[in-house]
Amino acid sequence: MSGATLLKESGPREVFCGLTSIVWLHRRMPDAFFLVVGSRTCAHLIQSAAGVMIFAEPRFGTAILEERDLAGLADAHEELDRVVNNLLARRPEIRTLFLVGSCPSEVIKLDLARVAERLNTALEGRVRVLNYSGSGIETTFTQGEDGALKAMVPLMPSTNEQQLLLAGTLANSVEDRLIKLFNKVGLEKVCSFPPRQSTDLPAIGPGTKVLLTQPFLTETARALKDRGAEILQAPFPLGIEGSQLWMKTATQAFGINSSTVHSTLEPLIARAQKALEPFKENLCGKKLFLLPESQLELPLARFLHRECGMELLEVGTPYLNREMMSAELELLPTNTPVVEGQHVEKQLDRVRELSPDLVVCGMGLANPLEAEGISTKWSIELVFSPIHGIDQAADLAELFSRPLHRHDLLNRKLLAKV
Ligand code: SF4
Repeated sequence: MSGATLLKESGPREVFCGLTSIVWLHRRMPDAFFLVVGSRTCAHLIQSAAGVMIFAEPRFGTAILEERDLAGLADAHEELDRVVNNLLARRPEIRTLFLVGSCPSEVIKLDLARVAERLNTALEGRVRVLNYSGSGIETTFTQGEDGALKAMVPLMPSTNEQQLLLAGTLANSVEDRLIKLFNKVGLEKVCSFPPRQSTDLPAIGPGTKVLLTQPFLTETARALKDRGAEILQAPFPLGIEGSQLWMKTATQAFGINSSTVHSTLEPLIARAQKALEPFKENLCGKKLFLLPESQLELPLARFLHRECGMELLEVGTPYLNREMMSAELELLPTNTPVVEGQHVEKQLDRVRELSPDLVVCGMGLANPLEAEGISTKWSIELVFSPIHGIDQAADLAELFSRPLHRHDLLNRKLLAKV
C-alpha cells in the first residue's frame, strides 16, 4: 500500500479548460471537426493554443454565442443548426462532428446532447454528431480528451476477440513503436483508441483488455468497462521503470512468457539508462513541486524521483482516481504529500515557503514564479511532447533539466555582471 499522504484542497483554481485538448485531438483524427459552442474568449483560447493552424484549413471552429443568445432572446438551437449546415456544406470531408460545450453554453443550459441527436437524425448517418463538455467550470484541460473519447465509446462495434486496446492519444510515431514491441513479444492483436480516422473505431467486448496510455481517462475507462472490457491496472508508460511495468502488466495478462519480454526490453533499457545519465546528474537532489493541472503529475513525480533522484516536495493533481492511480501511488516515497484539488493561493504560499528548484505548473503561473526567481516547467508541454515509452525516458528527463540549466546560465551571467 502507498506511503504517500493523501490530502484534498479546494478553492480558487488556475488551470486550462477542457477545450485545450482539441489541439491534439484534431491532429489525431483529421477527418473529425470540433465545433466549440462558446464565446469569443473560447475562440481566442483555442486559436492561440493551436496557432499553427494558420497554415491549413482548420479542423476546429467556434459557434459564437452572442449577447442575444446569452440573454435568451435568440433561439440558440436554430442558430447552431444554421452554423452546422453551413459548415458541412463547405466541408464535405468531415466524417465526425464534435459539438464541444463551454462555460457560456453551460450557463444558458444549451442541451448539446439533444442538438446532436436532432442533427444525427437530419443527417441520416452522412456525418456522425457527438457532444461533450470542455467547459472550464467542470473540466481541466486533459479531461477534454476523456469527454471526447467517452462520447465515441457507444459507436465502437462489438467483438469477443482476445485483444489489447491501448486507450489514450499518443504521438503516432510513439504508438507505432509501442505496438511493434508488443508484436515482437508475441502479442499480435493490438489496437488503439482514439483511432487515426474517427470512423475507424476499434471493436470492443469481453475479450478486450484495456491498457491506458494516459492517466486522465477515468470516464472513458468506465465506459469501456461497461462494454465488457477489462481495465488493466498498471503504472503509466513514462520513464524506463513505468514503461517496463506497463508493458509487463499487459503481457502477463495475455500469458506471454516473461523471459521473452525481458530479452526484448533489455537492450532498450540499457540504451535508455545510458541516455538518461547526463540529465540525471543535473536533476539529482533538486527539489520539485508539482502544481495540479494535467493529471500526469503522479507518474511524472514517480519517474523524476525514482529514476532521476529528485526530491518531491508536493505532488498536486486536479483529480485523484485512487483505483486507477494505485500502482503509481505505491511507487511514491513514504509521506510524499499528494494534494488533490487546488487552492492556488495556499499552494503558491507553500511553493514560496519550501523554495523548490523546479515547479511544474500551468502557463498562467509560470511567468509570475519565474519573475520571483523560481524555475518552472509548463505542464501543457508534457501533453504535446512524445514522452511515452522506454526510448523516450531521456527526452522526458531533458524537459525538466532544461529549465534548471537555463536558470544556472542566467544566474552565472548576472553574477558576472556584478
Ligand atoms: S470554456 Fe470557459 S474557461 Fe474555457 S475558454 Fe471558454 S469561457 Fe474560458
